[in-house]
Amino acid sequence: MDLPINKRGDNMPNLTEDFILRESQVCAPNYHPIPVVITKAKGVWMWDVEGRKYLDMMSAYSAVSHGHSHDRLLKALNEQAQKLAMISRAFYTDQLAPLLEKVCKLAQFDMGLPMNTGAEAVETAIKASRRLGYRSKGIPTNQAEIIVCKNNFHGRTTTIISFSSEPSYKEHFGPCTPGFKHVPFGDAAAFEAAITENTCAFLVEPIQGEAGIIVPPEGYLKAVRDICTKHNVLLIMDEVQSGLGRTGKMFAFEHESIHPDGLILGKALGGGLLPISMFLSNRDVLKHMVPGSHGSTFGGNPLACHVASTAIDVLIEEGLVENSRVLGKYLQDELKKIRSPLIQSVHGRGLWVGLEFNPDFVSARRVCEMLEEKGVLSKETHETVVRLAPPLVIIKEEVDFALEKIKETVEEIEANL
Ligand SMILES: *Cc1c(COP(=O)(O)O)cnc(C)c1O
Repeated sequence: MDLPINKRGDNMPNLTEDFILRESQVCAPNYHPIPVVITKAKGVWMWDVEGRKYLDMMSAYSAVSHGHSHDRLLKALNEQAQKLAMISRAFYTDQLAPLLEKVCKLAQFDMGLPMNTGAEAVETAIKASRRLGYRSKGIPTNQAEIIVCKNNFHGRTTTIISFSSEPSYKEHFGPCTPGFKHVPFGDAAAFEAAITENTCAFLVEPIQGEAGIIVPPEGYLKAVRDICTKHNVLLIMDEVQSGLGRTGKMFAFEHESIHPDGLILGKALGGGLLPISMFLSNRDVLKHMVPGSHGSTFGGNPLACHVASTAIDVLIEEGLVENSRVLGKYLQDELKKIRSPLIQSVHGRGLWVGLEFNPDFVSARRVCEMLEEKGVLSKETHETVVRLAPPLVIIKEEVDFALEKIKETVEEIEANL
């Protein structure tokens, strides 16, 4: 009997195909992964079940900004796990206050409300904004409006997808949660025109991530800050992906020297080891979130708090924000030097770059699959953009490796046009 020939061309059992097939049989098909099966990772490198090595240019959508299994974070995880991991907020712990003190000082807020995933922290921001609208702004019950941007991404709960403009996120998941209004991203005048006396908040990503790493026109964040102040509307920034150094500043709002009224963090806050998120704001907003109003069994658990606290120390002490700024600029500059009709644009900030391909020639998906074969892992966002967002611990030689493989890929596609 002939054994099936695998991708390598030998007759060894093909672990990759086996795991992909098995996953397709028992896991809901809600993702379309690049066909590679990862079994271990360290720093910026990952290994698949066949023993092949890859550079991670994806960082789990920025959740792995510290690199995989950072030694200091592993130590913090192990030590805390052995001491106290989880008790719920039925009791106090010696880990929650120190973490929130640290994050509040860093981001300049009075208080935080800890949750687990980004979407939960967004939900928290929505609830806190509405409650403030009713209790301090006098908005009539159930009339509060939150303004959001077209092409936003804030997560996947039923309320959050209710204000998504992406049809595939919401199709047949209705009825939608009311109370949201859309304005174009980057258009401050359109935002101001949409405000009514029932508007309690403006929820916005300072750089739109899932939309394709879209940087707004200069002055936009400053303008919306002024408009929010003028009309007494909360400015809530979703920095789940852009925060904690990804854009070359600790927070993306610093690029325009503004400060929001509320901030949503997640992803990298868990140091690449576990989920933790939070909504940060001032006392006059969060004081309304009284016992009974909101909660989460795992929110603020001591294991996650201890890891997050160490994750912030690592960002600062290892200079990861500066590394993101310097190598991010280098990566963008080098990508812009590639002269090819395939490439439509290069945009982003820090180590968060969108490489946009002309769909007449090649799909971003195809580029990612070719990069995979060359040992570089990334993922497309929409049909045209290849996302380049390595762990912030990456060094220049590793960026050069990615650049070389991207150039090779572009040349190969051109040669076959
Ligand atoms: C990823 C993301 C979220 C949702 O985070 P989850 O942990 O997947 O729930 C929310 N907002 C932004 C900007 C994100 O990038």
